[in-house]
Amino acid sequence: MKGRSMDYLPIFLEVAGKRVIVDGGTTVAARRVERALNAGALVEVFDPDPGEEVRRFLGHERLTHHARVPVEADFDGCLVAYGASEEAERDTLLHRAAKAAGALVNVADEKSYCDFITPSVVEREPITIAISTGGAAPVIARILRARMEAMLPAAYGRLALFLAKFRGRIYEAVPNGRNRRRFWENLIEGPVGDAFLAGEEGLAEERLHEDLARGSADLRHGEVWLVGAGPGDPDLLTFKALRMMQHADVVLYDRLVGDGIIDLVRRDAERIFVGKKPNAHTMTQREITDLMIERAQRGERVLRLKGGDPFIFGRGGEELEDVAAHGIPVEVVPGITAAAGCGAAAGIPLTHRDHAQSCVFITAHGAGGVLDHDWTRYARKGQTVVVYMGLNALGEVTKRALTQGVEPDMPVAVIDNGTRLDQRVILGRLDDIEAKVAEAELPGPALIVIGHVVTLYGALGVKGSRPEHQMELKAGHAL
Ligand code: SAH
Repeated sequence: MKGRSMDYLPIFLEVAGKRVIVDGGTTVAARRVERALNAGALVEVFDPDPGEEVRRFLGHERLTHHARVPVEADFDGCLVAYGASEEAERDTLLHRAAKAAGALVNVADEKSYCDFITPSVVEREPITIAISTGGAAPVIARILRARMEAMLPAAYGRLALFLAKFRGRIYEAVPNGRNRRRFWENLIEGPVGDAFLAGEEGLAEERLHEDLARGSADLRHGEVWLVGAGPGDPDLLTFKALRMMQHADVVLYDRLVGDGIIDLVRRDAERIFVGKKPNAHTMTQREITDLMIERAQRGERVLRLKGGDPFIFGRGGEELEDVAAHGIPVEVVPGITAAAGCGAAAGIPLTHRDHAQSCVFITAHGAGGVLDHDWTRYARKGQTVVVYMGLNALGEVTKRALTQGVEPDMPVAVIDNGTRLDQRVILGRLDDIEAKVAEAELPGPALIVIGHVVTLYGALGVKGSRPEHQMELKAGHAL
């Protein structure tokens, strides 16, 4: 056979009740002790003066501490020996003695003394994921480990324990091996797993019993998930949103959800663009809602992906009313709303003890066009106003505010495509922002931030906040 695909044999070793020796009192030693104890081993630590991290384990019922270095006789009947003293001579001695006793040896940072290597580990009791790069680049293993930690909800371990209780009954209900595997997949990736991971153990158990009663592998429950995708930067998705994007059967998304985010949807999920542009609706709200209901009733897991947060100017509430009326289970996952995303990305804090003690989110548009807000109530001293859906109405908004008596030099920022690579920020005052924005020809979506906090733009060292704009805003605006 040409080449090797692996330099090591991946196995999980049973050490419960067996002797494991750790030589050393270092941090590495402490990690070896911890893993071995977790696996049920009888651990013996050798070190005249172990460090704090090792001392933490002293007193454990399966741990014996010897305040000396080990000698040959200590290795009799030892299954695994770890060298972790960081002392070359001690390592050599340990290696020789442990090998003579037939133990498996691992000496930290000394490849020639290793029978095995220690993987990077992700634990979700009782699940263990071990990652190795065959010693080529352990840092990669550590980075992958960190990613998996983030990817796997902590509850996966509990899900495994929960499902283990039903193993026998599942075996009886679905005797055929291949069907049974599909049945399990359906449980874990489907509505039972989803309910469990959402913290609804009762519902998960109820569904599991229904599935068991039918004994069918194809059984499905339709659901609607209303999920916030954040303001555009895929890194601002929540873990939960990502997980649901990878479980959905069909995804309905609109224009605010960027391509980088749609790319993260499960490959074989159906994607339906239900895009809404101002004045150019691809589908009406009614049609979108009907589509969600129809798909869920077919047993599909329907993901309604919304820009920002679904409950902040996202019509999420309206869509759910109809879905709920059909008795379809619904889950809502929050997202980072444009105000939070744009504030962070542009370096404009929405509140600040010196500038704003309150912050209001308003929409410039209502169902029937530009809204007739009382601007003196909103744009006032000590308060930040964030205006959604205001780009096209900017002229009308500023005109109304000025007519109502809001100060003309009130600072205003318009943040276009916030958090995205093409983010732009236009700064001005209430009486000149319209002209500046018209000149900039912003494509949208854009958010308008009105208030004294805007003067902090460029002052906080935030990357997306460019100081050259700062001069346009003279400090000390009277509000
Ligand atoms: N549910 C969304 C808001 C939908 S309303 C949320 O919570 O963010 C649509 C408006 O959101 C747009 O008109 C614009 O004002 C704002 N918006 C959304 N994404 C934006 C972004 N990346 N940059 C600037 N404004 C954005």
